[in-house]
Amino acid sequence: MPSQTVLVINSGSSSIKYQLVDPETGDALAKGLVERIGDPMGVITHTHGGAVTEEEMPVPDHTVGMREVLRLFDTEGPTLAEAGIVAVGHRIVQGGRHFDGPALITDGVRDLIEELCPLAPLHNPAHLKGIDVARELMPGVPHVAVFDTAFFQQLPDRSALYALETETAEKYSVRRYGAHGTSHQFVSQEIAKMLGRDDLKQIVLHLGNGASASAVRCGKPIDTSMGLTPLEGLMMGTRTGDIDPAVVFHLERVAGMSVGEVDTLFNKKSGMKGMTGESDMRSVWAMIDNDDDPVAQKRARTAMDVYVNRLVKYVGSYTAELGGLDVITFTAGIGENDVHVRRELAEALSPFGVKIDVEANKARSGEPRVISAPDSTVELVVFPTNEELAIARQALAFA
Ligand code: AMP
Repeated sequence: MPSQTVLVINSGSSSIKYQLVDPETGDALAKGLVERIGDPMGVITHTHGGAVTEEEMPVPDHTVGMREVLRLFDTEGPTLAEAGIVAVGHRIVQGGRHFDGPALITDGVRDLIEELCPLAPLHNPAHLKGIDVARELMPGVPHVAVFDTAFFQQLPDRSALYALETETAEKYSVRRYGAHGTSHQFVSQEIAKMLGRDDLKQIVLHLGNGASASAVRCGKPIDTSMGLTPLEGLMMGTRTGDIDPAVVFHLERVAGMSVGEVDTLFNKKSGMKGMTGESDMRSVWAMIDNDDDPVAQKRARTAMDVYVNRLVKYVGSYTAELGGLDVITFTAGIGENDVHVRRELAEALSPFGVKIDVEANKARSGEPRVISAPDSTVELVVFPTNEELAIARQALAFA
């Protein structure tokens, strides 16, 4: 067991995800998930040293959930005495204008996170539950908030502001905050190290169930695709990404849909899921490969064309914003694993001299790797993101 570890907590409305991280190596020494908090029956899964413990029990609230997690550390290991936790890092979705970096959680910081609940009504209240119970149960170590929006607080006004009437925008804090910032920052910094250059013009494509793109120049973000909320930008597993805002008024007028219904439609029932019935890219590719169902096949192929075209648009516009491009990095579930999406994007960019190495692209590996041909105008890199490690390192600085 290393001498110093950080417990990383991601507290959701009905779940607590946790990982004990060695901030030196990035190893996950133990991890787990409390699910269905508040339901009649909850589930806790704890993994340590290859052994998985799963327990079903009622978990009425986050306090009980966190107590059970600490109990599992002591019964299944590593015990809290041997774990050497020097800090707890809390993932927070929305830090608004208040936080451009990690913050030691004091009562004042806690209140600011609470103040930001209207901007992240599903996430920040759930984070606060995790913060309150973890601070109570582990009072002896610093608790650090790491914000998903912090990196993008450096965005220039030209990309952070919407062309909305200024008074309304300011009064209601309407601007681009971005999301997945911890991942975009981590990956762009690691790419600069990997390629040995701090003057890179980079595009990072974080393609998971939620998906976002960022443009980073000399280590600073200059644009990102998620906006006031994580709905804007790329097409996602269940979210529309960019859509004409007038669709909201149109659906209200012609379909009698309420704002709440359109919110659910855009966030939960659209994207890949809405266009094909499946949100997982593996299932969508399976539909594309299935000649026995030509109707589903065509629908899936069209949805994939929309997905890739959105990527092409963002890469094109970000290249112009960056004034050139050195590297595109693919990360998260789809970015790291979907060979076809990477190839189709590279093919669409081939008129600009982008060349993928077909064999390198196909190779299965969990390691960072270059997948472009040596004579490509832009380097293409696959880099596994590690948000827990990034949070652990930022929290360690306060220990
Ligand atoms: P994330 O949100 O980063 O965990 O990414 C989850 C998504 O990654 C899933 O919904 C899948 O669409 C995608 N994914 C995971 N593994 C693969 C794979 N081998 N090939 C294609 N897509 C994958």
